[in-house]
Amino acid sequence: VSNQLDCCLAVDIGGSKIALGWFDTNGKLVGDSQNIPVPFDAFGQADENRIIDSMRRIIHQAINIQINILGLGVSVCGPVEKESGVVVLAPNLKWRLKPLKEIFQFGLKLPAHVEVDSRQAALAEKTWGAARNVNNFAWCTIGTGYGGYLFLDNKLFGGSRGFAGNFGHITHDEINGFPCGCGRKGCIETFVAGPAIARQGQAAVDSGQSEMMKELAGDKPVTTRVVVQARQMGDKSAIQIIDQVLRLVAINLGGVVNILDLEMIVMGGGIVNSLPDFVDQIQMRIRDHLMMDETKLEIKIVKESFSNASLYGAAADFFLKEGYLV
Ligand SMILES: [Zn+2]
Repeated sequence: VSNQLDCCLAVDIGGSKIALGWFDTNGKLVGDSQNIPVPFDAFGQADENRIIDSMRRIIHQAINIQINILGLGVSVCGPVEKESGVVVLAPNLKWRLKPLKEIFQFGLKLPAHVEVDSRQAALAEKTWGAARNVNNFAWCTIGTGYGGYLFLDNKLFGGSRGFAGNFGHITHDEINGFPCGCGRKGCIETFVAGPAIARQGQAAVDSGQSEMMKELAGDKPVTTRVVVQARQMGDKSAIQIIDQVLRLVAINLGGVVNILDLEMIVMGGGIVNSLPDFVDQIQMRIRDHLMMDETKLEIKIVKESFSNASLYGAAADFFLKEGYLV
């Protein structure tokens, strides 16, 4: 027994894929992480029993690699009720009030902890990443959506119900804005996240302003990737679209820093990672929107430390709650 490595199985359930990996108590990924598509049933609802089957398979393989299984750390793409581990709402999975912690514990006979992905990502940065020695920071992700989580006064901060950190749903323009996934209109997310970039790229092609994006898209609709690629190649419309995104994100995050007096913002997500200068641009531009000279000098905008921060955070959350980390 003594030569076995104590590990937890971390599971990150996203809107379309699930990542799984073994972690030791130092936050080291043991072996490779695995990705599987989310199994959906005939009604388009994510099937938790088939997720358990996949986990069971991975647990069986672990016997061959000398792993002592301590339990499960789970990250999920929707708000989770404190302690009970009930997923309150995960639109992409069509889950509403799903008692995921109970289902996993019962199905696999292992202790499990479940939290929302943005919280797990922030926790990973605090435990093993860029924010290790930081007491006030925000985790922020821009991809298909724009969201985040807060870490204030040396504690994760979820607000009164765990709904805090919704950077993307600050209203930017409720009159001329676009419909948002949250059911409202004109949220900042509808101006800066992936679908907004694609929409603006398509508009540039439709109005004859960008031959390059038209060519890159071929006969398909313009994607975010096309806009990003055209920008790297010097296309004027694409440069303008991304410039506007950078401008609005800097204003948005500047407001957050003015309210909370943060030391650091850790940024991740598909948009941030596909634009090599994103973090530097925000670092430069946010200063124009900060009130205090001290903050202008000291605020740090950094890129996420992990390829999948939520997965690392699911492991950190498990170890912390089970008392393996001090
Ligand atoms: Zn919204």
